[in-house]
Amino acid sequence: MIAIHSVTKSYNNHPVLKNLDLEIPEGIIFGLLGPNGAGKTTLLRLIMGRLRPDAGSIRLFGKYQPGDEEACFLLGYMPQQAALYEGLSVEENILFFGRLYRVPEQELRLRLDDVLQRVELTGKREALAGNLSGGQKQRVMLATAMIHRPRLLILDEPTAGVDPMLRISFWNWFEAMARDGTSILVTTHHISEAARCTEVVFLREGLLLDRGSPGQLTARYGVKDLEAAFVQATYSETSGRLNNDNDHDNNGNSNRDNQAPGPGSSSGQEPPP
Ligand code: ADP
Repeated sequence: MIAIHSVTKSYNNHPVLKNLDLEIPEGIIFGLLGPNGAGKTTLLRLIMGRLRPDAGSIRLFGKYQPGDEEACFLLGYMPQQAALYEGLSVEENILFFGRLYRVPEQELRLRLDDVLQRVELTGKREALAGNLSGGQKQRVMLATAMIHRPRLLILDEPTAGVDPMLRISFWNWFEAMARDGTSILVTTHHISEAARCTEVVFLREGLLLDRGSPGQLTARYGVKDLEAAFVQATYSETSGRLNNDNDHDNNGNSNRDNQAPGPGSSSGQEPPP
């Protein structure tokens, strides 16, 4: 569904994504898990066509480039920061986004009732967005992102600042949407949330450390939860990089090749004293 090939992105010469290769399949909840600064939002913005990569390519649904008009209609996006018209009611905000995505008026009214019910805001439909709590605003944001029934719903830290009970509700709604056929791409740094994804990638400092289902990742590292798996994946990547650095001199030549053979080497010679 999303094919990311050798994507690199820097801000002011500071690399944020480093030669990233990633295929994201359709029909699942796919999680990007990583600490703040890992490059998750940057990757989402590249997929949405709001940023361009410095190198590499992204293909959506087998035929579109990010930013293509047809692709925009297939995507729903819930950014980290609430982006609502505070002077409009809940209902007016959702209708506004529905019209932006050209949902036919009669259909829009039916969908409005449906999304309000899903995010449990039917009783607040006439409330001004500016008067809502943070959690309620997040729920309206989710409703606006799904009013046009996108093929892929992109959620950037959708539960940031949301209390634990509401967070559980959010994930119940995501799972219900996935069951109804919507693909979901979600970023999080909450391990407990990542465990509810069908598949997860670990991202750190712009590098993809590993990917798999939560069960595969914990089994691969022989640990009991995703947090420990993330730590192990980070450790493996860091020690691999350090070994590589030690193996090369400043000219990129391999120091291993120049090393005097050790006791275990095939020459059988002892190293010089
Ligand atoms: P995440 O979503 O994983 O927290 P981001 O993609 O937001 O990561 O940010 C990755 C890095 O890029 C961070 O160090 C952040 O400060 C930096 N960054 C993000 N956006 C910009 C920008 N517009 N200009 C300069 N640096 C940025």
